[in-house]
Amino acid sequence: MADSAAEPVFIEYETRGAVAWVWLNRPSSSNAQNYRLLDQLDAAFRRATDDDAVRVVVLAARGKHFSAGHDMGTPEKDLHLPRARSLLWDDPLTKEGAEKQYTVEQDVYLGLCRRWAEMNKPSIAMVQGACVAGGLMLAMVCDMIVASDDAFFQDPVVRMGVPGVEYTAHLWELPTRIAREFLYLGQRFSAQRFYDFGVINRVVPRDKLEEETAAIADEIATRPRFGLTLTKQAMNFIENMQGKRASMDAIFHMHHLAHAHNQLTTGNLVGGMGAKDMAKANKKAAGEG
Ligand code: ZN
Repeated sequence: MADSAAEPVFIEYETRGAVAWVWLNRPSSSNAQNYRLLDQLDAAFRRATDDDAVRVVVLAARGKHFSAGHDMGTPEKDLHLPRARSLLWDDPLTKEGAEKQYTVEQDVYLGLCRRWAEMNKPSIAMVQGACVAGGLMLAMVCDMIVASDDAFFQDPVVRMGVPGVEYTAHLWELPTRIAREFLYLGQRFSAQRFYDFGVINRVVPRDKLEEETAAIADEIATRPRFGLTLTKQAMNFIENMQGKRASMDAIFHMHHLAHAHNQLTTGNLVGGMGAKDMAKANKKAAGEG
């Protein structure tokens, strides 16, 4: 591990009664996810899991946006740093080519997201502003999603030649024609539109977001702990019986065929689409460019 004394902190953790509040705290980069942030998030979920007084976990975000997705090139992007791994797999830093990318994404994206989705305490994502691409992964691992009326959801990664992000739960949750539209066009869906499809639980005014989320979390927290665990397991079990896990495995492997194809044909995993190109294209898709 890197020198922990020098490690920047991207996650805040607090408890309010029986609810753990875990905050993404990298607002200057719209809570873009580097590996340190994801590892610290994993540690925060572990802390909530280990605390018997915590019944419910809220995943929230400081700043204007929930998360703009994976870090695509800030100075703090930290792919090169050694990190503790969630799976008993090889160290990707000593690998190259498709093996390197496949190994790292199995661990840090698919692996961590599945671990979090299977956390035995119910979780609620509290979403404002942008919830884009990798941001969807963090919201979708939660049991419930409460969004403010200024929130929007978008998966624009087909521009990079890949069929969705590494943990693609949203395509499984959306009706099939809408899912196709969501990916092919890569446009923003408003919180209201996601609500209409049953992908999120509440749409509330921005200034009521925290209050409404806290009310739901506090209410759930009054239920018996083991009852909540079993209920969550029942829901996860049913989803997987319906094909969620298998469908996401299939998409993950196509995602890696796409990375390999991009690397062979363009010399770049995402076809040369950097953060600036994506931001420009996304604004255009939203009618802002
Ligand atoms: Zn990827």
